[in-house]
Amino acid sequence: MISVDEALEHIGKVARTLPVRRVDLLEACGLRLAETIASKVDSPPFDKSMLDGYAILVHDPARSLRVVEQVVAGGVPHHAVEPGTTIRLMTGAPVPDGADAVIKHEDVQEIDSRTIILPDAQISAGAGLNRRGSAFRTGQNVLEAGRKLQPIDIALLAEIGQAKVPVTPRPRVAVLPTGDELVDCSRPVGPGQICNSNGPMLLASLAAMGLEPIDLGIVGDDAKQLKEHIERGLASDMLLITGGVSAGVLDLVPDVLQQLGVEQIFHKVRMKPGKPLWFGIKETEQRQTLVFGLPGNPVSTLVSLELFVKPALCVLAGETFAPPRSVQGVLSSEIGHRGQRTVYHPCRIHFGQREQRLPSVEPLPWRGSADLAAMTRANALAILRAGDYKLGTGDEVPVIPLGTS
Ligand code: AMP
Ligand code: MG
Repeated sequence: MISVDEALEHIGKVARTLPVRRVDLLEACGLRLAETIASKVDSPPFDKSMLDGYAILVHDPARSLRVVEQVVAGGVPHHAVEPGTTIRLMTGAPVPDGADAVIKHEDVQEIDSRTIILPDAQISAGAGLNRRGSAFRTGQNVLEAGRKLQPIDIALLAEIGQAKVPVTPRPRVAVLPTGDELVDCSRPVGPGQICNSNGPMLLASLAAMGLEPIDLGIVGDDAKQLKEHIERGLASDMLLITGGVSAGVLDLVPDVLQQLGVEQIFHKVRMKPGKPLWFGIKETEQRQTLVFGLPGNPVSTLVSLELFVKPALCVLAGETFAPPRSVQGVLSSEIGHRGQRTVYHPCRIHFGQREQRLPSVEPLPWRGSADLAAMTRANALAILRAGDYKLGTGDEVPVIPLGTS
């Protein structure tokens, strides 16, 4: 059996970022840019008035100027500004040749539509206008590859006329809960049956990550049916199967996966909960599907999701592989550990007590891998490494925040 760190290393080695896709600008928001974008235009594309006012020559000795033209945004000037003349400009209008500043219309005296008088105060060159290319120039890189595109980036891409954007697409993830005992929670539950909670949990988690997961429905512990469902799931970038990966007589998932050409990378990890975790990969020339066989107990599923599935998804979506982030905390009550498996114990972390350097960690009462209710009260997992020991109040312990409140 391998350790959690070894399991993570395996995942980091095989998971590959999805191939680049060119998508419409609006579809790109929230995705990672796959190539650095160089601008094909100058910004602004012409010397541009920043206000409603008058284009002038700052060293024009004349104080009374003749208005020769008016230019609106979207228009073009037909004259240059010469000494003794001015051109009225609206915000966004191109600045005419000759002019080196734009003065606010409130700052001049408008005698009639043909004449203005400048104030005594000297205007500095460049006031009231933005020179062509002053923000960035043609050929300049404006967004770096790997960046997660925000609405402001979408605006910038629109500004430079980038209607199609090279991105790493959203991973397509299929979810398949398995088990003869499972029924959908909308159906009556017969003797020996339970509601499928893993399916909804995984679908909800993936949706919360901005993905559109594929729900393959529930399948029983039947090799033929499993094969059919798994085959459909293998059309996705990632397939999350729950249940059927332990050592029971009906734990058929690893065999069926092997029959379908999914290469096993590892099976079983020295952790609790989540020991039966199975991970493999189906690779063809064009694409790869990462397959997780998650243990059926809901807390095992959740812990495996946090520890292994999320980091793998990040790689597919264009990030570099990183194990789940952990922080140091200080125990607010004692907790013990026995055995060779790393335990991930539901806990609550409390930040913000000012006199405390580290957040406090409160281990929650927990009845093991089927105890979902305890997990709903947790906002983190305390990591208790292998060995037989007791940690006391005030001892430091690493925790993985779950991003829940
Ligand atoms: P298994 O991994 O198939 O041996 O299942 C381990 C335990 O998890 C059993 O008690 C199952 O009934 C339970 N279980 C399996 N799948 C689910 C599911 N989708 N929702 C809730 N419990 C499940
Ligand atoms: Mg089962």
